[in-house]
Amino acid sequence: MTQKKFWEDPYLTQCTATVTEINGPKVKLDQTIFFAFSGGQASDEGTIGGINVIEAVKQGDKENIIDIEYTLEKEPSFKVGEKVIIKIDPDRRRKLRNLHSAAHILYYLSQDFIGKVKIIGSNIAPEKARMDFLYEKPLNELIPQLETKMNAFITQNNPVTMKNDDSKSDLRWWTCSEWKMPCGGTHVRSSGEIGPVRLKRVNIGKGKERIEIFLQ
Ligand SMILES: [Zn+2]
Repeated sequence: MTQKKFWEDPYLTQCTATVTEINGPKVKLDQTIFFAFSGGQASDEGTIGGINVIEAVKQGDKENIIDIEYTLEKEPSFKVGEKVIIKIDPDRRRKLRNLHSAAHILYYLSQDFIGKVKIIGSNIAPEKARMDFLYEKPLNELIPQLETKMNAFITQNNPVTMKNDDSKSDLRWWTCSEWKMPCGGTHVRSSGEIGPVRLKRVNIGKGKERIEIFLQ
């Protein structure tokens, strides 16, 4: 079982781990800071033992991630039991952390304008985050107000916390202000870290709306 250090400290960008399994270019480690795509959040990018990681895949389900398997660019010369250094791209992680927290904040703040909507998709990439949901009216006119409200909330430096569930080992709870939702992603400690954001409405077909979030 891979210990998820990206949960304990989402700001760590380098750590040492012991190799537990090697299968051609695929490796597993006893612990990791390297996030694997989950809950719409993109994987980190970086190296293990100096070799580029081309894919990170979690095994198990979101409440119980057994392992993370990393596919390296080439077969490693290191062996099972050896220690390796994991490095991730700090700028990419910073953007993913900021945008993931921003996406949750957007979800809750948008309820003041449009009520509780049915989410049909979401994605957190380093360039932007998006939230897709069912809604009958185009949101163009609302976007500037929502953006103002969101930037005001961010500036207030509201604390963000992540806690493990008492009963399920890999279930994590995100909380901020009076909001709480299950989430396995990496988050900021306080909304002010996100900095100002820009929102954009995208037409994705009748009865559906997409809002994209960009960091400034
Ligand atoms: Zn989340």
